[in-house]
Amino acid sequence: MGAMAGLALYPGTFDPFTNGHLDILQRAHRLFPQVLVAVAANPDKAPLFSLEERMAIVRDATRDLPGVRVASFATLLVEYARAQGAQAIIRGLRAVSDFEYEFQMALMNRRLAETVETVFLMPHESYTYLSARLVKEIALLGGTVSGLVGPLAEKMLAEKSRAERGGAKGRRRSGGR
Ligand code: ADP
Repeated sequence: MGAMAGLALYPGTFDPFTNGHLDILQRAHRLFPQVLVAVAANPDKAPLFSLEERMAIVRDATRDLPGVRVASFATLLVEYARAQGAQAIIRGLRAVSDFEYEFQMALMNRRLAETVETVFLMPHESYTYLSARLVKEIALLGGTVSGLVGPLAEKMLAEKSRAERGGAKGRRRSGGR
């Protein structure tokens, strides 16, 4: 069988986008010719990186993947998926611990939008212990996250770490790209 037709949405907070996220994205891209990485604004989660920073990191990590686009959304996920014409929502399952929350979300989303199917993909075993939360904890305490995130995320995590640990000396990143 050939590739499934159409467009899949891969939503998340991506604070920051990790190599585990990238693994899922690549698997999704083998099934769907077009994948839209949808970065949730999610101000309630108080992300470490601004929406613009998180999008820049995803763009950097996916620059070699034609057919992958990056956008942001602040509305109900299924409404956004419908508005984009997406057939599927992609989510990653690392372990049983992800399952309950993901199952609940998938069934609620189905109730809200019958035609948008949630597709679960499992990452390579080497990413099952990887989470954006752990990456942030390690980086902010001065540990190395090389191999766990892409080059831009690594650089921006190091900057945040220096700023946090430098206290008053920490430079503020402002404007720029
Ligand atoms: P959200 O706030 O929507 O859960 P995340 O950025 O934490 O956003 O995660 C987005 C999706 O990526 C979720 O489906 C999550 O289970 C999945 N995910 C996160 N880390 C990994 C990983 N290391 N391997 C596979 N999937 C992952």
